[in-house]
Amino acid sequence: MMVARKAKPEKEKDARAHESDPYKAMGFMCGLEIHQRLATRHKLFCSCPTNVLDKSIKPEANIERYQRAVAGELGAVDKSAEFEQLRHRSFVYNIFNTNTCLVDCDEEPPHEMNREALGISLSLASAMGMRMIDEVQPMRKGVIDGSDPSAFQRTLVIGLDGSIKVNSKTIKVPLLSLEEESSGIGSSGGASVVYNTDRLGIPLVEIDTDADIPDPKTAKAVALYIGTLLRLTGKVQRGIGSIRQDLNMSIRDGARVEIKGVQELDFIDKFIENEVKRQQNLIMIKKKLAASNASVGKAENVTPIFLSTSVDVIKYHIKDGAVFAFALKGFKGLLGFEINPNRRLGTEISDYAKMAGVHGIIHSDEDLQKYRFTGEEIAALRRQLRISENDSFIIIAGKPEEVERASQLAIWRAEYALKGVPKETRMAHDNENYTSKFLRPLPTGSRMYPETDIRPIFITKEMRAAAAEAEPNIEKERKYLKSKVKADAVVGQLMLSPRLPLFKAIVEKTKADPEFVATVLLQKMTELRRSGVDVDSIDEGRIIEVFRYYADAKITKQAVQEVLALIPKENGELGAMLLKRGLLRLKGADLKLLVENYTKENKGISKDDLRARIMAKYRLSVDGSELNSLLEGKGTHVH
Ligand SMILES: [Zn+2]
Repeated sequence: MMVARKAKPEKEKDARAHESDPYKAMGFMCGLEIHQRLATRHKLFCSCPTNVLDKSIKPEANIERYQRAVAGELGAVDKSAEFEQLRHRSFVYNIFNTNTCLVDCDEEPPHEMNREALGISLSLASAMGMRMIDEVQPMRKGVIDGSDPSAFQRTLVIGLDGSIKVNSKTIKVPLLSLEEESSGIGSSGGASVVYNTDRLGIPLVEIDTDADIPDPKTAKAVALYIGTLLRLTGKVQRGIGSIRQDLNMSIRDGARVEIKGVQELDFIDKFIENEVKRQQNLIMIKKKLAASNASVGKAENVTPIFLSTSVDVIKYHIKDGAVFAFALKGFKGLLGFEINPNRRLGTEISDYAKMAGVHGIIHSDEDLQKYRFTGEEIAALRRQLRISENDSFIIIAGKPEEVERASQLAIWRAEYALKGVPKETRMAHDNENYTSKFLRPLPTGSRMYPETDIRPIFITKEMRAAAAEAEPNIEKERKYLKSKVKADAVVGQLMLSPRLPLFKAIVEKTKADPEFVATVLLQKMTELRRSGVDVDSIDEGRIIEVFRYYADAKITKQAVQEVLALIPKENGELGAMLLKRGLLRLKGADLKLLVENYTKENKGISKDDLRARIMAKYRLSVDGSELNSLLEGKGTHVH
């Protein structure tokens, strides 16, 4: 029973809300950036196709380039660009004649923009109730990781200030843009990075939400919603890498962290929960460090201590490298403290050291005997660093030029533990649901400038109308599917399936039972693909024809899968193939005759045995229920 009571003071009400919502209590903020490659016929600014080549395909040529940081529109040189220049790496671009042209290599001005990609983007903007830009102006966004031979990527703002409703919450979607996909990494390491340009320039839609997503579960639902909208356009690429989700999030007293490259939708909430725990643990560590009056020492060259060491990772570098170490007073036990599954404060510090090229660090919370350090070495190290048994240290070994910088980076990160959570970009590792420091600094706003090679594009009334017409509509689609199939799970699967348009075509054009059609399209065809049948090569018209044969009782239910498996191997007309393969359904008078013959030849056996014998031979061409009716003497019914 509801009892009327006096309104609580604001503060108390707030506190009560927090009890039921831990994420609100921790000041949780989260936004998503979803990047989706479009399945258009051509790339965004040239006529190359948009398929991504198999990694085993060899390039016909390659070009090598170095890049230099330049000032952006606002006159400032991007920090990340500077960082890249310091690394002085060369970039090698693999060229594939079928999928790369002079536009991709920045040797020829861009062609006219791909109208198909623009149309898809506009329909998505329309679906999210966005304000559309009247005059779309391509911009150049500086790319400093070398993934574009031109050192910029073209991007166009298409829609602003939209929103979606997910789990009865309104989530703001402030931006939709259309841009060029970057090159794919072929290989990296050493002084050069190799990129594959087949992927470069494929249209990519980016959808950004506001940071007002209230909790991890909603974040996952939002990603699923936007992913569904994208798929309902029927014009997006599928498979690994074709959709990438970036998250940015923070909690009170933590920091804004961007997590890049979550590919599996199912992991989004896990990644967020882990990041929350990581930030909470770092905040807890900060408090402990403050309580123990902790401090970080300066890097010292400790090479002489290890001249005759048996520690493999150090021995390897002793000849032509160096060993550095620094003290961490008051850190005891905290370097090895697990802040995320299998990730420690030591791991975080190690991520920073690795940015300078070293393989990692050794810290005093690790099992030093396992490394085969001697007691003397450790004692000498503590003496040089002027620390006691109760203090910690970090050792870094590597090439002389790397090890000094690695020590500085590690010290920077260790000192940050005293302040809390550093603002950074982290990379998602899908298989383990953990993140690690992205090995380059965050890019900044100074990397945008206008593209002068392309004139702005006016978004006409007609284009807006076409966009509204083509709008993907989740509610409408769900309602339609619910009228066809019972299970919500199947409705959900169909919504996300690339075969949704095919499902609708079959259901509209044949009398086949929609539940059966869904089973074949969602399960059987996937099984066939896994068993090596090239189901994706089958023309949709032929699939519709197969279902028409089934609906007209010309083939059995069991034969449908068999027929689909045969089509990629056999050319020619479907009817002729079915006849040749003995797959046409045996029914009515023909089946009756068959049953009579079997009955005569097998006198005295039970109906069940008779049924089993007939089905063993005619599994694909006899319908089980029709056979049952005949055996029970009920005559034959052909539906
Ligand atoms: Zn091209």
